[in-house]
Amino acid sequence: MNADPILLFHVLGAVWFFMLGAAVGSFANVCVYRIPWQKSILWPSSHCPGCLEAIRPRDNIPILGWVFLGGRCRNCHLPIAIRYPLVEFLMGALYVAVYVADVVLAPGVLDSMAFGRMFYHDLLVSFLVIATFIDYDYYLIPDAVTVPGMILGLLFGALVPELRPDPLLAHTFWGGLGIGLLGWVVGGGLVWFVRIVAGLAMGREAMGFGDVTLMAMIGSFLGWQAAVLTFFIAPFFGLLHALLKVVRMLFKRLARIPIVGADREIPFGPYLSLAAVLLLLAWPQIWSGWARPRFDMMADVIGWIVSGQ
Ligand SMILES: [Zn+2]
Repeated sequence: MNADPILLFHVLGAVWFFMLGAAVGSFANVCVYRIPWQKSILWPSSHCPGCLEAIRPRDNIPILGWVFLGGRCRNCHLPIAIRYPLVEFLMGALYVAVYVADVVLAPGVLDSMAFGRMFYHDLLVSFLVIATFIDYDYYLIPDAVTVPGMILGLLFGALVPELRPDPLLAHTFWGGLGIGLLGWVVGGGLVWFVRIVAGLAMGREAMGFGDVTLMAMIGSFLGWQAAVLTFFIAPFFGLLHALLKVVRMLFKRLARIPIVGADREIPFGPYLSLAAVLLLLAWPQIWSGWARPRFDMMADVIGWIVSGQ
């Protein structure tokens, strides 16, 4: 019996894009570690934070480098955080998921646009992973992550207007740019508006400005419809984190450990990112099966109100 050539192709593709993702994850670790301190992400090469010894190329292989070292620096034997290989694995897994969503499950024959869409989504996913871990660590999302992200999202969306899936398909540079800019305005504007209203209502900062730029970036890639959905799905994931924090605060109170400011804070960026990634992966199914009729209905209602009938 002959092996199915398409199946073989996809297995090799998945392996290849897992390795690519893990390598990008390795670079994402560098970004998460250095960008909040405004250090260069290109120079110098990675060092052990304990003994400052440069990390050898073979120890720097994503995931495997950490495993072969037993999670310790070769020179000073200081433990290396398991988060480094986990971020590399996460990025590899996400690249495989995007490959499956955009290439394996693409309708019709394989074309270059399926791969183009995959790389476009990989780009967004990479920026989201970096933003997520910086927000998780520092409760902020630097413009150094989101501004290059939104520029690339707008630029590629305009240069290759067929990159985005339905209903964002455009055929001209200006069409692609317009869809990106509308997503940028709606995504960023929504958080900006809610941030002001919630800030007035609560008397304190409800969301950081980093969430505004993060959503502007998401909108510039995925368009205004997905940006709106991202904003409303994200709190459900955040709620789980909030519950964990409440439980931890209760334990701290029982153990008489002082409660610090960070115990009351929840980063929103990771949940916006998670919602955006899930929407991006299942977009064709979500759009045609669920979202489109609702957006159409909303447009009808707005139309009735505007026309006064
Ligand atoms: Zn060391």
